[in-house]
Formats: sequence, C-alpha cells, structure tokens
Amino acid sequence: MRPQSVWRSLSLLQRVPVRCSSGRRAIQTTTTRIPNFAFAFDIDGVLLRSSKPIPGAADSLALLKEQGIPFILLTNGGGKHEMERVAEISEKLNVPLDPSVIIQSHSPFAELVKGVDEVGALEHKCVLVAGGDGDSCRRVAEQYGFKNVVTPGDIFMANPSVWPFSKNFTEYYKTFARPLPKPLDPADPTKGLKIDAVFVFNDPRDWALDTQVILDILLSSNGHFGTLSEKNGRADLPNHGYQQDGQPHLYFSNPDLWWAAAYPLPRLGQGGFREALEGVWAATTGGPSKGIELKKTVIGKPYQPTYEFAERQLLRNRAKAFGGAADLPPLQRVYMIGDNPESDIRGANSYRSETGSSWQSILVRTGVYSGGEPAWTPHTIADDVQQAVQWALKTSKWTG
Ligand SMILES: [Mg+2]
Repeated sequence: MRPQSVWRSLSLLQRVPVRCSSGRRAIQTTTTRIPNFAFAFDIDGVLLRSSKPIPGAADSLALLKEQGIPFILLTNGGGKHEMERVAEISEKLNVPLDPSVIIQSHSPFAELVKGVDEVGALEHKCVLVAGGDGDSCRRVAEQYGFKNVVTPGDIFMANPSVWPFSKNFTEYYKTFARPLPKPLDPADPTKGLKIDAVFVFNDPRDWALDTQVILDILLSSNGHFGTLSEKNGRADLPNHGYQQDGQPHLYFSNPDLWWAAAYPLPRLGQGGFREALEGVWAATTGGPSKGIELKKTVIGKPYQPTYEFAERQLLRNRAKAFGGAADLPPLQRVYMIGDNPESDIRGANSYRSETGSSWQSILVRTGVYSGGEPAWTPHTIADDVQQAVQWALKTSKWTG
C-alpha cells in the first residue's frame, strides 16, 4: 500500500463525481481460466440484511470462489476490525472468506498511521475516535497502529460537566473509558489534553456528546481541549478565522445518509450525524450564509479514494491468487453490486481507474433501493445478488 496515494487521493475528495456509466473498453471474451474481470460487493442490503443472509448470496460467493473469480466486499459499514468482520460474515454465509477480501469504510485510515512522512504520521499523536459500540473503534484504531487514542467517553468520564446530559449513560461509559493521556486542566487548558486528529470511525451512539466534544475541539486553539481560539469569527481571516488556529483535521469514514436495517424503512447513517454536526456548526459560526464551511475529509463510497483503495486491494489479491503471473491479463472490468444508488452506483459510475479498468454498476432490490427511477443510473438492475452475478458472468461471456 502506498500511503502517498491515499494522501493524494484525499486531496481529491471534494471532486464532484461525474455521471458516466459506459465501459471504456470492449468486453474481451475469456479465453483462459484467468478472468479479466472481478466483483465488488456491498454487504448490507446485498449479501446480508440485518445480519441475515440474503437468499442466493452464499451460493454466489461460493460459485465465484470455486471458479477462481476474484472479489472484494466493499462496505461503508465498520466498527470492527477487518479480521473480526470477515469471520462474522464467513459464519453467517457459511462461506470461508479471507480477511484480504474486505474493505470497510475506515480501512483507508490505517494508511494515516505512518502518513507520507514522519511529520504527518499520526502514529504517536493523540487522535480522537468517535462512533461504534463502546470503544470497539478505539481498539480497531489501535490494531491499525495508532498508539494514542482517546474517545469522547474518556473525556466525559474525566469531566462529566463537559456534557451533563450524558450522565444517564455513565454506567455505559464506565465499561470502557480510560484515563486521558493528559488530564484536562481547567486552570490552564493549554497544559492539558491536546487532540491532533478527529476521526468519526463509525456511527456515533451518543450523537449529543460526540457533537459537543467535536465542536469543542474544532473551536479550540491548536486542539487544546477546553480552549477557545481567539481567531474564531475574525472576518479578516479565511473562513472567518474558523479552523485557522492549528485545530486537528476532521475525518468521516462514511457519507451514507441512509442504510438498510431490520426496520422496514431505511435508517439514518453516519451521514445523518455529519449533517447534524454541519447544522450545529453553521448555527454556531454563521455557516454557508457567511461563507463559512466545515473543513473536513469524507471517505467511503461513493468517493474516488475508497474505490482506488479497493482496486489496489483487488489487484493485489488477484496477483496473489494467480501466482503473480507475469502474463496476467489486465483487470478490465469490475462489477460493483450494491443496493444504494447514492453510494454504490454513484461511486462505481464516477470512478476513474488509474489502471484503466472499467467499473460497471448493478443495482439490486434487496436493500435501500425500493424501485422507481434511481438517483444514479446503474448498468442494470437485478432482483438480487444471485441474479446480478449471473448477469455479469453472462456479460463477460464466462463459461467457467
Ligand atoms: Mg448497502
């Protein structure tokens, strides 16, 4: 993995995806057992729905494994380490899967541990990790290599007056809170806790506490918790002085406003939390009406860096599966099967591959999409993942 590429990619995050769905290469008839195509599957609403297998999902993955056709699982979900997540999916589908096939929304954050250089590396810096059950995301971040991870719950337990309305959840926070690496110092906050990056790893469970803590950090001076930057609101500075005083960068792992869960209607996702935070930010600072933005980086589908990360992983897995053959035919096509037009379909349609592969989107009806004209037009619509895989195999003229 090249960290540089992620940093380069992250700078492209604000690029508006372009509607374009046609394959740029002609379909090449498979003449050997090495396929020139591969698959990327979304998980929720495609393979599983509220943790239950979707009919045909297991058979489809088993078929691809048997035929030696590479695939990855590309999800905006997360909250667990990749090893744990893949073990869980393998068990639910009863199909053994290698951890290298899964990419979760926060997987690319692992590349920020070392960064592009020592100065940019976050390995030994203090990072705030929000979201997920308990401190499961802290443990994931630590497995990625971050050495100094704080959660909003740690800050709350160190000083419950930070957000008094979370006192009803004290028993919950007690189960995982750790002492802060540096205590809060009300007398001189510049000597206390300093945050160097803020990661929303997964959907926050306590939106209110997380909103307050993140807002405090964004309004601080140099990330010193409990300070308030004197630059905030200064009209002579860019962004009216907001986020101009060494505050840590803010990262979101998943832009999805909605996701498919057990409830019959889609539920708010991490994108809902971000919108809420943006709303509070705008109300606090004046927001877009005054030309003030919330500076942040959002990864996950449909954004280019996540697809780049996925393709690199797919190419590595493919090279490994076929013994690093020098004459390995190029990967010409990736079929992206998803249930969410805004993330899966938009992302695949908009993706521009550095290696020239063409991503073709297939929308299934087993998740978020409920019929009608989708917001982003897929190459085709299938009833379910099995039908989608069959369509793709036929399209690629794969005879096995
Ligand atoms: Mg989905």
